[in-house]
Amino acid sequence: MKDYYQILGVTEKASADEIKKAYRRLAKKYHPDKNPNDKSAEERFKQVGEAYEVLTDPKKREQYDLMRKGGIPFGAGRDYRWQQTRGGQKSDFGDLFGGINIGDIFSDLFGGGVHRSRKTPQKGNDLQTTVDIPFNTSFKGGQKSIVVPIQETCPRCGGTGAEPGTKTNKCPTCGGRGFINIQQGMYAVQKVCPTCLGKGSISERKCSACGGTGTIQTQRKVNVRIPPGTVNGQTLRLRSLGSPGFFGGPPGDLYVTVYVKSGRTFEIEGDNLIAHITIPFTKALLGSKVKIHHPIGKTITVKIPPGTKPGAKLRISGMGVARGSHVGDLIVEISYKIPEKISPEQEEILKKLDKEMAGI
Ligand SMILES: [Zn+2]
Ligand SMILES: [Zn+2]
Repeated sequence: MKDYYQILGVTEKASADEIKKAYRRLAKKYHPDKNPNDKSAEERFKQVGEAYEVLTDPKKREQYDLMRKGGIPFGAGRDYRWQQTRGGQKSDFGDLFGGINIGDIFSDLFGGGVHRSRKTPQKGNDLQTTVDIPFNTSFKGGQKSIVVPIQETCPRCGGTGAEPGTKTNKCPTCGGRGFINIQQGMYAVQKVCPTCLGKGSISERKCSACGGTGTIQTQRKVNVRIPPGTVNGQTLRLRSLGSPGFFGGPPGDLYVTVYVKSGRTFEIEGDNLIAHITIPFTKALLGSKVKIHHPIGKTITVKIPPGTKPGAKLRISGMGVARGSHVGDLIVEISYKIPEKISPEQEEILKKLDKEMAGI
């Protein structure tokens, strides 16, 4: 079971603010832009995003804390549905966790291998993928087309795995039940029959299109809608675009984790767009104007009032993220640029100024 608190380096009692700070620091540190071709950094980056998703959602965090303490009531009530699909790798707990594959958490808790009787309709496997988008798309929202490899029901045999027109016989391994019982420690658990793969019957001749598996590997083109204000590491859920269901069950979902290729200037915080702007300290003292190339494609001019302090935040309303009818603000954060070298003339002026400033 992954320890999301450890991943973010925070305590179990960490506030939402502390979690957010830890996430921002680590996401910057492990960002793929900063660690090109570093697989371990990429993995850390993903884990940090995952931990952030769970721990910043109060409902998910509560459920996660429960599980962490091992106190999840097994099979209790509708909120604790437990359904493993073929292969025993995933559960539809994804409903609760909105995009995190926590199948491994449950495998750890229960030792895996718990199966319902076969042939009851079951939801298909969830699929997960990632997508890279430029910052402007994360700000404005947009579309991104991706190709998803997918197992589909074989059109030739309709999923039975039998060559059309040939006879099928009851599976000798499982006696037609589709599953077998095996002893695992103290418990007897059900596993999918390895001979018939859960179908309960075997055909005289395997389907020539799928080789008897009943599924074929195809690709599906999916248009992912990126909502405005999508942040790095956010996971989008595309309902019913996962693998097809088993025995008439609904298809699984597709989870797309978004990685934002961002520059140094902009950042999204909630509904606000943050612009980090560095200006010469003289312009901040005297007042000035700066031009900002806003992600909407417009150049806007921001007035810097005289005496602007370093770290000052200038708010321009209505230039942030547009979510429906609500539009956030643009917040311009000012940093000072100080010359590395000054000329003797400049030094003289500054010394004079320094003397005059002695009294303030
Ligand atoms: Zn087939
Ligand atoms: Zn069998």
